[in-house]
Amino acid sequence: MSDTIRVRFAPSPTGPLHIGGLRTALFNYLFAKKHGGEFILRIEDTDQNRFVDGAENYIIEALNWCGIPFDEGPGKEGTVGPYRQSERKAMYKAYAMELIENGNAYYAFDTPERLDFHRKDHEEKGKTFIYNWHNRLKLNNSLSLTQEEVQSKLDAGEDYVIRFKSPQDEELILQDIIRGKITIDTNILDDKILFKSDGMPTYHLANIVDDHLMNISHVIRGEEWLPSLALHTLLYKAFGWTAPKFAHLPLIMKPVGKGKLSKRDGEKGGFPVFPLTWNESEGYREAGFFPEAVVNFLALLGWNPGTEQEIFSLDELIQSFSLERVNKSGARFDPEKNKWYNQQW
Ligand code: GLU
Repeated sequence: MSDTIRVRFAPSPTGPLHIGGLRTALFNYLFAKKHGGEFILRIEDTDQNRFVDGAENYIIEALNWCGIPFDEGPGKEGTVGPYRQSERKAMYKAYAMELIENGNAYYAFDTPERLDFHRKDHEEKGKTFIYNWHNRLKLNNSLSLTQEEVQSKLDAGEDYVIRFKSPQDEELILQDIIRGKITIDTNILDDKILFKSDGMPTYHLANIVDDHLMNISHVIRGEEWLPSLALHTLLYKAFGWTAPKFAHLPLIMKPVGKGKLSKRDGEKGGFPVFPLTWNESEGYREAGFFPEAVVNFLALLGWNPGTEQEIFSLDELIQSFSLERVNKSGARFDPEKNKWYNQQW
């Protein structure tokens, strides 16, 4: 980990940027600029099935439109890139192999049919199937086969994945800047796949390898990733790397009622969820908002300045921003209450 503050926004290009994603980008940007640090854009496109053409451009345009450009990232002159994981894919396997060699990961040869069979079998008994320390020896993997059997499967070109070997009977203490201390019993963890049979790393492996190689000092991301914190912390330990500090931002809730904001809330409420509208055939178009108003609105979504001030310029936001003032509970997306967001041209 470096002494300089380096943060990243790491979207998967699976469609237009959700307002929660834009807020994550903004908080990363504000934190970096407040501390004289760097803000990196990394496109996490290892899941080819979910890839949407044009989404990367939309993300870049949305950041530029908001006035929160990245310092390092795809296509940026003078930076080290590439920052698209698909262009870095050749190197991830070596990291998965390193974990096999040091005993923290293993080959698994289970077919999808076999795993389905186990899932159903557990369901019938009213249990959930977890590929964990308890079940792993019953399954078709290198922990249950001899070395010769494993080698002959590899030589025969059999499909395999590489799984992380979650520790058994440990109490893991996790730290989050917003949530504080979180304690996890490792027996509830399953052995997550790190490397897939299609030759691509999973999100977990690529994400932590890149955060390490890019010297990321703070990972600021949405709360939906909090369940991955245990695995990520364990992965850093397994590699012998120092983990960055983590801050998980609370969810953005529906304008009315319960639950997380969804795209349909935007459509139903008559206001766009995105500052730029986008569709696959037309690309992006401005939706008629002032960027300053959108940035102001997003900043106050889950962050409390601790004063009565309601209107902030970007510079003022940079000066006042701190992760300690991010709320722990979900923020309600309610543009009706924010006159600045509603000022359209
Ligand atoms: N690619 C993940 C996403 O789409 C990134 C999560 C993270 O920031 O670690 O949200």
